Amino acid sequence: MELRDGAGRLITYLRLSITDRCNLRCVYCMPEDGYKLCAHDDVLSLEEFTLCVNRFVSLFGINKVRLTGGEPLIKRNIEFLINNLANNPGIDDLAITTNGILLAEKGRPIFDAGMRRINVSLDTLNHDRFHRITRVGNLDDSLKGLQAAKEIGFSPIKINTVLLPGFDEEAQMIEWANREGFQIRFIELMPSLPLDIDISNGNAPRMPDILRSLSESFSDIEKLDDNSSDAGNHTTKYRIPSNNWTFEFIPAITNPFCMHCNRIRLNCEGMLRYCLYSNKTMQIRPLLEKSDDEFKTAIQDFVSRKNGRVSDHIASYMFSIGG
Ligand code: SAM
Ligand code: SF4
Repeated sequence: MELRDGAGRLITYLRLSITDRCNLRCVYCMPEDGYKLCAHDDVLSLEEFTLCVNRFVSLFGINKVRLTGGEPLIKRNIEFLINNLANNPGIDDLAITTNGILLAEKGRPIFDAGMRRINVSLDTLNHDRFHRITRVGNLDDSLKGLQAAKEIGFSPIKINTVLLPGFDEEAQMIEWANREGFQIRFIELMPSLPLDIDISNGNAPRMPDILRSLSESFSDIEKLDDNSSDAGNHTTKYRIPSNNWTFEFIPAITNPFCMHCNRIRLNCEGMLRYCLYSNKTMQIRPLLEKSDDEFKTAIQDFVSRKNGRVSDHIASYMFSIGG
């Protein structure tokens, strides 16, 4: 009743990219001149997503599911899917990654449907930089969404901050997040298809750059032991005892976590992908009508081809794979 890949890694975590549509256009995620969206007829219905997840849970013991996209909160009737997943007793950890823009409006319905854990992507607290990164967004909408999420009672609320060229807000963002009760994680930018990421001059900073810069202001930064029981936990945690602040990194480049990978991804067209860096996919829709045994054999066969990392670049745009 378990799913192991070709390197023997146990797969327990399914990430669902439920739409490729988005209300932002982040420079590191989407090409500026548009992109071809999936045709509506090709997008899995919420019933099909539910069926897939239920089978992964019952046949393989998948116990962690994350909704992502594109922007998941623009998906019509997302509450229906969340409610189905929240009522599946095999799922211990149900979470969503969102840009937060629609949280003021959709936070309450998704909370009532059973969502509790939320990651909000926010790369800056500067209005002008926010607009330049997202091309169309307004920082106030994101901050309003976060306040709403706090009032509604989501917990934990994690902030995903991608480290982009010109980033120098680490101290300010750590202070802000800790005061607000959010867990902040700095994510190293992963190379993807050629994109316009020249936010300002310089290279994208990485974990050692941020730690070096923080150590100029704080003399007591401590690395925390990882007590997490989650084998696929990819974060490196730090604390600043003088302020009792914590922060984390997802050091995708400095300290690649491939050997601990426990993930598999399903996108909105029903393409199953076992690695961000691989362009090997399998269409899952025809399998939904097959017996449990046939479903199981086909998935196991596909996942057994997952082995080491095959490329330095993410295989497609992040919005279409589901970051
Ligand atoms: N729209 C939602 C959001 O932005 O949170 C969910 C989808 S987005 C593709 C998921 C995550 O991927 C976001 O936290 C985003 O910052 C991250 N991401 C996108 N492109 C990335 C890249 N090249 N390197 C690292 N993280 C990336
Ligand atoms: Fe949209 Fe998220 Fe990609 Fe930004 S990172 S363009 S919000 S999918």
